[in-house]
Amino acid sequence: MGVGHPECPARLRAIESRLQRSGVLERLQRLEAPRASREALLRVHSAAHVDDVLDAPASGYRQIDPDTLANPHTAEAAQRAAGAAVLAVDTVQAGQAELAFCAVRPPGHHAEYDHSMGFCFFDNLAVGAAHALAGGLRRIAVVDFDVHYGNGTANIFRNDPRVLVCNTYQSPLYPYWASDAANVHFVDVPLRAGTDGAAWRAAVERAWFPALEAHRPELLFVSAGFDAHRDDPLAHLNLEAADYAWLAAWLQAFAARHCHGRVVATLEGGYDLHALAESVEAFLQPFLER
Ligand SMILES: [Zn+2]
Repeated sequence: MGVGHPECPARLRAIESRLQRSGVLERLQRLEAPRASREALLRVHSAAHVDDVLDAPASGYRQIDPDTLANPHTAEAAQRAAGAAVLAVDTVQAGQAELAFCAVRPPGHHAEYDHSMGFCFFDNLAVGAAHALAGGLRRIAVVDFDVHYGNGTANIFRNDPRVLVCNTYQSPLYPYWASDAANVHFVDVPLRAGTDGAAWRAAVERAWFPALEAHRPELLFVSAGFDAHRDDPLAHLNLEAADYAWLAAWLQAFAARHCHGRVVATLEGGYDLHALAESVEAFLQPFLER
């Protein structure tokens, strides 16, 4: 999105090189992300929005909002990021993997039904989740621990009680979400700047875990953004890599009980390259120990 923008190609390179150095990469099955079909995108986005994203500029940049720019590669990247989530669903549903982690850019959870925003063009996770529902699943859950509220996913599934949407997020902070306590399938946990891992874990245990147990999802989705890390430059929560490993261990055990172990995670934010790579590895670790 231009020189100096935090949502940069180096993010995926940092993750890949960390996983390579630590030996994790060679224990993973790697799949190339296909382009999402138009049909898959239209389950969660308007035709006008899909056309708008696919109409990338031939050169230079097109400004979407103050932080979000499209370039000549955006259309393909956005289609493949969403396509990764679809392939991830198919892969876990076929029993070929338990966790599918989509290391994708651009991120997705701010993208709304009819517009791009906040570095996001298509809501990758929502495209995958809608694909799973179209395939016949009756109950799914989304957990989103990105430091920014996942407004796109929440709004897309606002009126769909099949989808439980659990968020923890710094408040106030972009996108300035007003918590919707009346919506019983939203579990919104706003956290003040400065919240540390212990307080975050306590909030997750109190709010998310009982709701997840009650919902009994058949497939678990994770909006895996790592910008609540204490070193992240865009926000002010104080999580550490060990906190992501803690949640992943719980999610893995939960999925084993309810979802045949099936988890689909998509990368969202995370802008300190070292913290991002370390946190992704920590998140994957409990699934590798199986
Ligand atoms: Zn974020």
